[in-house]
Amino acid sequence: ALNNEHAKGSLDIAIVGGGLVGSVEALYLAKRGHNVRIYEYREDIRKTPQVRGRSINLALSVRGRRALKDVGLEQHIIEEHGIPMKGRRIHRLDGSTYVIPYDARNNQCIYSVGRNYLNASLLKESDNYENVTKYFNHKLIEANLQKGTLTFLKTDTKENVDVKADLIIGADGAFSAVRKSMMKQPLFDYTQKYIEHGYLELCIPADEQGSFQMPANYLHIWPRGNFMMIALPNQDCSWTVTLFMPFTSFKSIDTEDKLLAFFEKYFPDSIALIGRKKLIEDFFGGSPSPLVFVKCRPYHVEDKALLIGDAAHAVVPFYGQGMNAGFEDCTILDHLFQKYNDDLAKILLEFSDTRWIDTFEICDLALYNYIEMRDLVTRPSYRIRKALDDLIYWLLPDIWVPLYNSVTFTTMPYSECAKNRQWQNKVLKYIFTVLGVSTLVGVFYAFK
Ligand code: FAD
Repeated sequence: ALNNEHAKGSLDIAIVGGGLVGSVEALYLAKRGHNVRIYEYREDIRKTPQVRGRSINLALSVRGRRALKDVGLEQHIIEEHGIPMKGRRIHRLDGSTYVIPYDARNNQCIYSVGRNYLNASLLKESDNYENVTKYFNHKLIEANLQKGTLTFLKTDTKENVDVKADLIIGADGAFSAVRKSMMKQPLFDYTQKYIEHGYLELCIPADEQGSFQMPANYLHIWPRGNFMMIALPNQDCSWTVTLFMPFTSFKSIDTEDKLLAFFEKYFPDSIALIGRKKLIEDFFGGSPSPLVFVKCRPYHVEDKALLIGDAAHAVVPFYGQGMNAGFEDCTILDHLFQKYNDDLAKILLEFSDTRWIDTFEICDLALYNYIEMRDLVTRPSYRIRKALDDLIYWLLPDIWVPLYNSVTFTTMPYSECAKNRQWQNKVLKYIFTVLGVSTLVGVFYAFK
């Protein structure tokens, strides 16, 4: 039976995927008075233990915070739960560390938040809205987007359920079933690429007193050229450690001795923190996960269906922007609902026509940031550039915002952040050339 109950004056909207982005979108739409149904493949995560595989914690920054503020959760997440990280703490091979602040000028920071906690808080918030209904254990198996119909498999009872909606929102992640259905339409562009590196999560537990074993308010990085390890703090004083490296390197470490030799060579200070036994258990107990990015467009089908979040634009995780960009989709959509007074044809068209410019950009920036994190941060040229960037930012904050700061601490469109970087590069090149020539001239006259 088609389930299309409708309250007068409001739209009936089906969101596929009750992950981070789907649940934020549900709150935005519920606040506007629409009837929202969330269909989620998994069980209610509030009732299930944490599963290994997806990142356990995430870096939340300004774009994500803005959406959380709009739906009334920012204060709770930041104050009750988030752990501020005010810079990168770089671990050298000899175990010594130094800090590169994220924002030396204004001391802004990013926040480490638990994925499950955040998702559960969003779902819990939606319990407060009578116009939101959640259907867990519902896997989308078929969609007719032009007609606005969806078929779900109920994973517990194995029944099929047909539903109809005024608008279908695909928030079903990087391997989106809604997107698969959209791909059947002509003129749909789609690129998907796996990078050659994968990631594996390890853990540094709290110490015997239940405290952090490393300074807590940083994102720790062990940059090692072609690979790296990072650690983000958790609320229970443990650290989620993520090792990023080529799949070929993961494969070559196939015995306990090789693993310990590898860690002793590249991450010696981490062994005591993780513990030898736990390192072996966690490394061989999991397998490295792939990293994929997806670019596609358009994001919509007429006035009937729309992709948001990873379903529209999966990015590699190195800028900490995947979720933040997904939350920003929801904020932008909310503005469009306001601007066009719920006229879906206009809202979907404008979102689709404009948003891709910025999401394609963050996709490219995230790939670049991997190179910065694993390699460039250790180079003197990077540190000179960063010092100059920070100095000019200090002197001219309205004109010169460094790339990382504009991406992380402003809501400037990603494409503008990248354009700024390009002209800043030209200015710096000019300054270096002038300085170089002046030095040469000085040396020439000094020895004449
Ligand atoms: P998802 O979180 O993937 O949620 C999709 C939901 O749809 C899931 O609940 C899934 O069960 C459901 N679903 C899937 N298929 C179906 C179906 N057929 N039917 C019904 N439901 C379905 N981002 C940041 O901003 N900061 C970070 O620090 C950060 N770190 C990351 C680290 C790693 C290692 C990785 C892999 C990603 C990281 N990200 C980070 C990116 C972030 O995880 C994603 O951008 C974010 O989860 C996207 O949310 P989403 O709701 O669009 O998709």
